[in-house]
Amino acid sequence: MKILVINCGSSSLKYQLFDMDKEYALAKGLVERIGIAGSRIKHTKAGESPVTVETPLPDHKAAIRLVIDALLGRNGAPPALASLEELAAVGHRVVHAGEKFATSVRLDDKVMVALRECIPLAPLHNPANIMGIEAVMDVLPRVPQVGVFDTAFHQTMPERAFIYGLPYGYYEKYGVRRYGFHGTSHYYVSHRAAEILGVPVERLSIVTCHLGNGSSIAAVQGGRSIDTSMGFTPLAGVMMGTRCGDIDPALPVFISKAERLPAADVDLILNKKSGLLGISGVSSDLRDVEEGADRGESRAKLAVDVLTYGIKKYIGAYAAAMNGLDAVVFTAGIGENSPPTRAKVCEGMEFLGIELDPAKNGVRGKEAIISKDTSRVKVMVIPTDEELVIARDTKRLLG
Ligand code: ADP
Repeated sequence: MKILVINCGSSSLKYQLFDMDKEYALAKGLVERIGIAGSRIKHTKAGESPVTVETPLPDHKAAIRLVIDALLGRNGAPPALASLEELAAVGHRVVHAGEKFATSVRLDDKVMVALRECIPLAPLHNPANIMGIEAVMDVLPRVPQVGVFDTAFHQTMPERAFIYGLPYGYYEKYGVRRYGFHGTSHYYVSHRAAEILGVPVERLSIVTCHLGNGSSIAAVQGGRSIDTSMGFTPLAGVMMGTRCGDIDPALPVFISKAERLPAADVDLILNKKSGLLGISGVSSDLRDVEEGADRGESRAKLAVDVLTYGIKKYIGAYAAAMNGLDAVVFTAGIGENSPPTRAKVCEGMEFLGIELDPAKNGVRGKEAIISKDTSRVKVMVIPTDEELVIARDTKRLLG
């Protein structure tokens, strides 16, 4: 069975074609600059060199057609699909399902109405995801489609974790609450951790640290998310590449007054000019900031300190929330690839049963247990695979 997974942004579209009998990616690619001059696709069939084609793409429908052409071998790359008949279904990553869906669903007209109702909650992301779904519905009307939501895994959070200390009416009127994001990733790495440890996930308390350009931490108890660091939006929680993470909520009003800036400009500062970039003044990319810190630049060092201290505090808080801790998992760009970040986060956590093994911590980008054999809490690196979860859910929902 072959399943196409699509992650659609406003001007870009990532895709992977899976063979679900053996669970491996047959092909993957990226379409960029949709609706902008210079549109292109970079398509890679497994085991072959990438093929890049530049061609005008006025909209997402044109982008989907180009992806199909690439998969069928019409752009110079060898075919990954012999014919469209082979394509069993398409799975889509969708950012926000509000409180409407706690699991993945088959997409139909009723679900699309619900996703449109969630646009006010994710005005930047959901419209692009919806465009991708509608484009596939147009181009492949007979192929079943499934939506997999970033928010779904966190729908198991208890009220005490998702209600803010604000007038309750805002929750009722506007859905103001903690939703959390990266759910597919937190689900995948927590359940994979249980597999690797050979313990049923129902018996484990795990803190999962998804640390990329956007970062979030989750408390996963018995296989269910009971708390997470991102909130109503992905701006909350630990500091990120350009996002501030948790700050005093009075600060946006203070900055707006002090700098005489309208709300939209303050929002831009908190989302695009803060975090690693804002503190270091060097870059939003941790590699550049780590190099700056190695050169002795004090603000780069400070940015790394603020980041790792923030992550450490979440681990401690979530250990308290779960009445103990069995494993800490690091994933995504930083979590998988930055031994110094993992070392600083785990430093001084022996009281909690965390003992990192410096040699094992050297690993990058592959599954490993990086704690000492004597460590009560297992510290693990697990590369995330959101696309595989989307493909599995899509297969399951086909019945
Ligand atoms: P996104 O949230 O956009 O999916 P990624 O998960 O790809 O982001 O993570 C990007 C982050 O990972 C960047 O901050 C980058 O610096 C960091 N990163 C990637 N490789 C390394 C590395 N070898 N050392 C340190 N940081 C790394």
